[in-house]
Amino acid sequence: MKLFARLKDGLSKTRNQISEIVEHDTKITEEFYESLEDALIAADVGADITMEILDKLRSEVELEGITGCAEAYETLKHLLSLDMAIQKEPDEFPPKPWTTLVIGVNGVGKTTTIGKLAHEYRQRGSRVLLSAADTFRAGAIEQLQLWAERAECEIITQGEGADAASVVYDSMEAAKKRGADVMLIDTAGRLHNKGELMKELGKIVRVLKKSNPWTPNEVFLVVDATTGQNAIKQAEVFNELIEITGFIITKLDGTSKGGIALSLTRTFNIPVKKIGVGEGLHDLQDFDPKSYIDAMFG
Ligand code: GDP
Repeated sequence: MKLFARLKDGLSKTRNQISEIVEHDTKITEEFYESLEDALIAADVGADITMEILDKLRSEVELEGITGCAEAYETLKHLLSLDMAIQKEPDEFPPKPWTTLVIGVNGVGKTTTIGKLAHEYRQRGSRVLLSAADTFRAGAIEQLQLWAERAECEIITQGEGADAASVVYDSMEAAKKRGADVMLIDTAGRLHNKGELMKELGKIVRVLKKSNPWTPNEVFLVVDATTGQNAIKQAEVFNELIEITGFIITKLDGTSKGGIALSLTRTFNIPVKKIGVGEGLHDLQDFDPKSYIDAMFG
């Protein structure tokens, strides 16, 4: 199945619920807004943000003199895609290696996403090096090693329990020596111990900055769409610890909670960069607000 079809399939519940509302292009009533509210909340947009969005829609409907549900619905989709289209200036002179720190709690799909990202860069002809700095979770290093084989890229590891910043130091040295274009760093998601996590991330960033003042170039927070509003809580915690440059939302192939993309971008004003729609090497796609809204709302 094509990736977009998989996303569409995952988000079909929201789409079906809403298409029933607008099927008959009747005049806009209070009931119409209530049905939209139910659908957005069921999709995990979050109550406050749903209210904000609907208030915006009401103003737009009034301003434009819109009377039918179908047109109001198209307006809603337009407003939502504008909302999610956050552009951040790209680095003008990307230093080598382009360094991406991947963070997030255990089980959200960090390691899998790194494998997929590595594959994507490899397809573009880049030399990729993975840094196995999740030295905390049992099996994390071996799992990343498997992904390195699948994506045909290099990997730097130390043993389980090793100092994460020391792995990153080794990786940076190796990346520079071998002329890697891209370095992707896996990290431990020990959210239950915020102090340790902060110390570890801080140390990793210091090691990176010593070798290149522009690094890390990206800090991706990976969140699992199926955890719904919990993803917001995780983002709050990580956002306090480190400057996140983009979100990656995984498991969108098996959830009706696609509204999390809206919640995240509106709450933090940080863009969603990629979405995961499966467990395989190819199952990562660029986040495009318009296609996303289409998949969600039809
Ligand atoms: P980590 O602990 O954050 O490194 O998470 P893992 O990469 O080990 O992933 C946890 C589980 O989620 C694994 O079984 C993955 O195969 C699965 N997974 C990751 N991304 C996706 C996705 O986009 N869709 C689906 N369906 N499963 C995913």
